[in-house]
Amino acid sequence: YATVDVLGVSFTKITNRQLVNQLILDSQQRKNCFVVTANPEIVLYAREHPEYAAVLQQADYTAADGIGIIKGAQILKSPLPERVTGFDTLISLLQYADRHIKSIFLLGAKPDVVKAAKKNIQKKYPRLKIAGYHDGYFTNPETVVSLIRQSSPDFVFVALGFPKQEFFIKKFRSSACAIWMGVGGSFDVLAG
Ligand code: UDP
Repeated sequence: YATVDVLGVSFTKITNRQLVNQLILDSQQRKNCFVVTANPEIVLYAREHPEYAAVLQQADYTAADGIGIIKGAQILKSPLPERVTGFDTLISLLQYADRHIKSIFLLGAKPDVVKAAKKNIQKKYPRLKIAGYHDGYFTNPETVVSLIRQSSPDFVFVALGFPKQEFFIKKFRSSACAIWMGVGGSFDVLAG
């Protein structure tokens, strides 16, 4: 996919549908992927934190989650096709996992929140497999990483908020061959 640099972040020119289809294909081909959906807050933070910008550069796909980013790309005469939110991508992947009996790991949010999210996901998508879940307030990442590794999920959804979730994924993505995606506050929404 072509990319466009908006204020130092390289965005993938990809639609919602293309991203979901691509991630499904990557998953079927057992690729290890790091997906970022970057909003304007993330772009501004990356500008001030070069070590975070460097992490974003390692993402396989960086979708544009904000009208401001779409507008910026337009001004640069290198348009992005549409806004892609992490939440919408997450829902599409849950639907896929349900249809094809794939497994997911949920990492992040408060203990009662991730538990409620897990319960609601299981109810709405009964065929997908919850390989495991853990709240986002751990002290020892190695314990969490070993849970992820042992459960070998197809998808790992990381809801630690930015920049934590991207740092976490960059550091630990090699522990499981999966599609790793930062999903911000999505578990809070799914918890209802
Ligand atoms: N969170 C977490 N661990 C932390 C900090 C935050 O699990 O150390 C969770 C928090 O409970 C919430 C999510 O990360 O569920 C952050 O949501 P927010 O909407 O602030 O993130 P953003 O969408 O702005 O990245």
